[in-house]
Amino acid sequence: MDYAYDDQNIFAKILRGEIPNKTVFENDHALAFHDIQPQAAVHVLVIPKGPYMSLDHFARDASATEQAGFFHAVAAVCDLMQLDEGFRGISNTRVHGVQDVPHYHMHILGGQQLGRMLLD
Ligand code: AMP
Repeated sequence: MDYAYDDQNIFAKILRGEIPNKTVFENDHALAFHDIQPQAAVHVLVIPKGPYMSLDHFARDASATEQAGFFHAVAAVCDLMQLDEGFRGISNTRVHGVQDVPHYHMHILGGQQLGRMLLD
């Protein structure tokens, strides 16, 4: 698998400060911000700061420190957005997963009752 990272993607531009975002949480290794087109009452994206294009790329090549920082940010988002009743974490990946932005991100969806996944 060739994990060629394109640094012109929109999340890379957000990380460089070229495009604004509504930040929820940030640490040394991850940034969490509100999705621009929310699909639920709470819809936050958590992204690593490193150049990883997908979940499998991040899982394979990110350091343990980067991975811990990322999941610390996921936990912080759940706390800050008060997702005690639950949520859904989604990482769309490449073509079959219908990934639009080629920088790894986890969607955190919640704040309301969600439907079952994979409607079609
Ligand atoms: P995916 O299809 O999993 O790659 O999802 C990409 C997500 O990024 C979509 O939910 C978009 O609404 C979201 N998105 C695209 N541009 C921005 C932006 N500038 N700020 C916040 N979210 C964005």
